[in-house]
Amino acid sequence: MKITLFFCTLYFNMDYFLLQLRHFIERFNEEGNGIHIGKESTVAPQRTEHLMACKDCDLLVIQAKVPPGYSAKCPRCGRCLDRSIHHSIAKVLAHSITGILLYLPAIFLPLLTFEAVGFTDSSNVIGCIIEFYQAEYYFVTLAIFLSAIVFPCLLLLSALLTSLSLYFHKYPPWLRHIFRIYVRTEEWAMTEVFFLGIIVAIIKMKDSSTIGYDAGFFCFMLVVLITVRINATMDKRLFWERIEFKDRPTEALPFSPQSRGESAAANGFCHCHDCHKLIPIADGMDKCPRCGAYLHLRKQQSISRTWALLCSAIILLFPANLLPIMQVSFMGTPTPSTIMDGIRFFFDSGQLFIGIVILTASILVPIFKVVGITILLISIKFNFHHYLRKKAIMYRYISFIGKWSMLDIFVIGLLTALVNFGFFSSVSADSAATYFCGVVLTTMAAALAFDPRLLWDKYENTAGSGPVPPQPPKTP
Ligand SMILES: [Zn+2]
Ligand SMILES: [Zn+2]
Repeated sequence: MKITLFFCTLYFNMDYFLLQLRHFIERFNEEGNGIHIGKESTVAPQRTEHLMACKDCDLLVIQAKVPPGYSAKCPRCGRCLDRSIHHSIAKVLAHSITGILLYLPAIFLPLLTFEAVGFTDSSNVIGCIIEFYQAEYYFVTLAIFLSAIVFPCLLLLSALLTSLSLYFHKYPPWLRHIFRIYVRTEEWAMTEVFFLGIIVAIIKMKDSSTIGYDAGFFCFMLVVLITVRINATMDKRLFWERIEFKDRPTEALPFSPQSRGESAAANGFCHCHDCHKLIPIADGMDKCPRCGAYLHLRKQQSISRTWALLCSAIILLFPANLLPIMQVSFMGTPTPSTIMDGIRFFFDSGQLFIGIVILTASILVPIFKVVGITILLISIKFNFHHYLRKKAIMYRYISFIGKWSMLDIFVIGLLTALVNFGFFSSVSADSAATYFCGVVLTTMAAALAFDPRLLWDKYENTAGSGPVPPQPPKTP
């Protein structure tokens, strides 16, 4: 508890500490020392009359000046194009320092202690992974190890290194690779889903055992809050522009409107998938000069890769739902339980809210993802140009909710680690865990492999030409 209080205090004071440090260094600078630290607002790149492309529909847009706290949206598909955040670099730095300090206690300290009929069992995050490993579910072990431990660590480390370098106006050549790690791991770090799994495990066990909350629980909760805050305060456009232009103002691209369409591709620009920089196709570059990613006008073999992953997910859905996903042993008698049995248990015991959460995450979300991606692929195949904006919104929902289906896997991992009361009662994973984990990961990979800009490419023929201004900025 003392550790948690210490980190809470540290977290809420980090912003203040960094502000004081900045004032101290600036005063030091004014007194004639050689250290140069510019104010974030004065070195921020100019944001007016520059071009940008929408990530979802490739519409070429004139970059608007977005006031801090506001966001600009794509006039064609409604995607958020840009959002401006006050002191983004300092905020990300403050959060990531606290996150890194909390990370090891969150992973290694015990999360919860369950006590029933004289037996006591406690476990940490590592314990859940070891349970799957000992039961020889190696695929699930690897998936949890990466999503709950490795990727959150990489996310915090990359956010820390990037914001620290930008805060002190240092631009080492490896910085762009570090920030690319942040961009790439954002989708796959699942601390918030794991924490929801802890809450579900607590609700499931609260009537049959006494639950003790250990220091790891509070540390993990803070890591989740910090990860969410880093995501909310990260102004990626500002970060990329600072990495590229250092302290110089940004340069506008030479541009002449072409009559072939409104998209960036039709106007002769390639849009980098990682940093979203626009690069003239005429330059003939194969790698992005800003982040180093390979350049493609559209994601390579997007349709065939998405179909392949989608078909795999559909095949895996059957064993995932028909086979038992865990076994609950009571007085030495094991009872296999499928996903639906688990949901029925919550509804029968009157825990409607948690039953609906599990039903949504384990059954409805995977089906919605499979049906949604199928609709998008069929739309492209048969050139259905109707409801393009609604389809773009559906794609964004599919991408957003993808990782929440891992909830059931995390709950089973926690229960196997925490409910081990010898002969009296124990929980273990069963064969459907591997198939269900496969469904979640293949549908997530299918959403990533799909290129939503393909939906709009045929529509281009009927559209106008040249870049358009974005919708007026709206509050987030
Ligand atoms: Zn758009
Ligand atoms: Zn790039």
